[in-house]
Amino acid sequence: MRRKLVVGNWKMNGSLAANAALLSEVVAGLAGAKAASAVCVPAPYLAQCQAQLAGSALGWGAQDVSSHASGAYTGEVSVSMLQDFACSHVIIGHSERRAYHGETDAQVAAKTVVALAAGITPIVCIGETLAQREAGQTGAVVAEQLGAVLDAIGADDIAKIVLAYEPVWAIGTGKTATPQMAQDVHQVLREQLATKNAAAAGGVQILYGGSMKPDNAKELLAMPDIDGGLIGGAALKAGDFLAIIRAAD
Ligand code: PEP
Repeated sequence: MRRKLVVGNWKMNGSLAANAALLSEVVAGLAGAKAASAVCVPAPYLAQCQAQLAGSALGWGAQDVSSHASGAYTGEVSVSMLQDFACSHVIIGHSERRAYHGETDAQVAAKTVVALAAGITPIVCIGETLAQREAGQTGAVVAEQLGAVLDAIGADDIAKIVLAYEPVWAIGTGKTATPQMAQDVHQVLREQLATKNAAAAGGVQILYGGSMKPDNAKELLAMPDIDGGLIGGAALKAGDFLAIIRAAD
């Protein structure tokens, strides 16, 4: 049985004061929750998360990591820096990084390898654009994106990754994949994971992301291969984020 996981992606939002209030409200509301939960925050706020969340039920992590260990890579954040702040998770290959920073499947794969080697759980994001869906290319696109990662990691690593299926057309748009549309993709992704490690594929958490909200979370999370959510906008309001975590119970 896979434990559900709900992860907030704060994107480039927050302030010390606003974060303190949001985090304390979320932590207070988590008592008794069955699902695991975490927030992935802008790198400058990792220290705040470590100070405020250590010992709580809410994990924390980053939204990206460099594939390089250290050196002349201005603006990048290394995996050892994420370790310094005890990150449990790191989002890799979010569609906004692919679209605005030109991240390739090869870079996503390299970052996944780096996170795994550091013992930080990579949340590997994949998903098709609207044009690709309308052209009937969804299956091929996500298979290629996942394939690049599977080629780069060992069979034993399958059990250590989290996947997030995020149709690009659903992110921040208010449009959500129907539960069946999402389930169909999740099932195919799990079959692809099984080609690398059949025993581990059934245990991998595959999250759905794309305008998941309190009012649609329950039916999405009821699908057999949807193991949680990667939540953008709704993770910035404690009540909404908590309602989604509760919907995963
Ligand atoms: C995301 O950023 O990963 C995301 C799913 O955003 P939203 O929930 O706002 O669509």
